Amino acid sequence: MKENNEPVTRSESQSFIESFIGKDLKDGKNRGKIHTRFPPEPNGYLHIGHAKAICLDFGMAKKYGGKCNLRFDDTNPVKEEVEYIDSIKEDIHWLGFDWEEREFYASDYFGKLYNFAADLIKRGLAYVDDQPADLISSQKGTPSQPGTDSPYRNRQVNENLDLFNRMNKGEFDEGSRVLRAKVDMNSPNMHMRDPIIYRIIKSPHHRTGSTWMVYPMYDFAHGQSDYFEGITHSLCTLEFEVHRPLYDWFIDQLKSDDYRPRQIEFNRLNLTYTIMSKRKLLELVQEEKVRGWDDPRMPTLCGLRRRGYTPESIKRFVDLIGYTKVEAINDVSLLEHAVREDLNMKTPRVFGVLNPLKVIIKNYPEGQVENVELINNPEDESMGKRVVPFSREVYIEQDDFMETPPNKFFRLAPGMEVRLKGAYIIKCEGFKKNEKTGAIEEVYCTYDQNTRSGGNASDKKVKGTLHWVSAQHAVDAEVRLYDRLFIHEDPAGQKDDDYRKFLNPDSLKILKGCKVEPSLRSARPLEKFQFQRLGYFCVDYDSTSSKPVFNRTVQLKDTWAKVNK
Ligand code: ATP
Ligand code: MG
Repeated sequence: MKENNEPVTRSESQSFIESFIGKDLKDGKNRGKIHTRFPPEPNGYLHIGHAKAICLDFGMAKKYGGKCNLRFDDTNPVKEEVEYIDSIKEDIHWLGFDWEEREFYASDYFGKLYNFAADLIKRGLAYVDDQPADLISSQKGTPSQPGTDSPYRNRQVNENLDLFNRMNKGEFDEGSRVLRAKVDMNSPNMHMRDPIIYRIIKSPHHRTGSTWMVYPMYDFAHGQSDYFEGITHSLCTLEFEVHRPLYDWFIDQLKSDDYRPRQIEFNRLNLTYTIMSKRKLLELVQEEKVRGWDDPRMPTLCGLRRRGYTPESIKRFVDLIGYTKVEAINDVSLLEHAVREDLNMKTPRVFGVLNPLKVIIKNYPEGQVENVELINNPEDESMGKRVVPFSREVYIEQDDFMETPPNKFFRLAPGMEVRLKGAYIIKCEGFKKNEKTGAIEEVYCTYDQNTRSGGNASDKKVKGTLHWVSAQHAVDAEVRLYDRLFIHEDPAGQKDDDYRKFLNPDSLKILKGCKVEPSLRSARPLEKFQFQRLGYFCVDYDSTSSKPVFNRTVQLKDTWAKVNK
């Protein structure tokens, strides 16, 4: 389902979560405090969906004078890596949020969780099951049919304790035994049908080494970790709604007073023409369908950053889509709209020519150079002006010239006049064509020296204005143009689940012979510009190219703005 195109305002969109929180605070629940957390599993890089959760977790805490923890839910040593932890921290800081000294790990609680599990065993609320996982899962039944009890369900407490202990000593193979909570095999909620809470894993953990041979399942660690940290509001995505009764059951067994974290679910962020599953994003990286987690086509935060997205534009987008209880796919053009609005205000305008065509101004004195002064950003005078050199030979875009133009082509063609922005009006007097290939190789013009912009110019007006770069001053550059990574709006939502077949073969186009104005020689990685008439560009940090590399963030045309007119 696609959400309708009306942007939602923040006050409306967050009201259901905010009003729950507001009421709890007003009622003096948790002594009038709010404490949230952002709980990533360190098994991949953060994507823009996570940004939605981050903005809510940190945003609500900030707005209501509370705190937000960063907690890594690191319960699966097989899939986790320190690289992911570092990148997650970097990305949260980049978005502009801070967890202060509250950096926690579910693995900090492995001891407590183990003791809690042992306590459940002692109370007859957990048992060791010797059956393989697929058999256990087949005995779970279906939502309309009750499950079947495991033959080990009524194992004696002492035997359970002994086995659990030995599981942790490494006496048994991975997969040979699990610990299950004894909840209710007849519950209509499948998650309550004696869920597995501990499994044997013999790979070392990135923080606890080989201290443990048994690891808690995510469902057994998550809610309890919230409880141990004194979290008041556990904000999470809708798929956890059905897990909530189980989390509540665990807390019921654990808690000693009235306090319990309150879980509130909201819809995940999905975007058109991309995928948001960490597993699939990892596949794209491993199979080299993209150039890494930070490939500018990826929906990861590091990919978006490299593409030229600003934290403000991402937060603005998250504001616009809001938080609801309805799963939807958000239109990526709304995200593009948000970054365009932001970059429009922030970036200096510059000249860059992607596909250069040389124009020789025959009557312009050879060797003469004029410094043309241009406004950096018409939206913001404080950004000042810059000087761009003009000379007898300039580059324009190939598609700004046509030998036989159609009607209403207000650019350059034989006999036609255009203004070179900030400089003079030129008239096309001829051109050189490669007879074999048909390519136009040079264009010959004359200029009228009374038409200099900003001078005591004649009031002569022409319809077309072109960007240009002086040939002798131009800096060679590489430009990377990006299109959508997938050609299908919902590549991961299709029946056979092979999202790969929807990959867009033309999602990256590399232009190596570009010419940009000399002021860009000193541009630094991640600096952003508007190339006039072409879009917003961001300097890449790839050191494999000897020339400066610019990634196009977005084109100038705003389809979203049009839709909403
Ligand atoms: P996986 O895809 O590996 O199951 P995940 O996407 O749920 O993982 P986590 O690291 O568990 O990733 O996510 C951390 C937090 O971010 C969770 O609270 C989760 O609800 C939230 N989150 C993840 N994806 C999205 C999304 N697309 N939109 C909003 N919130 C999300
Ligand atoms: Mg998850």
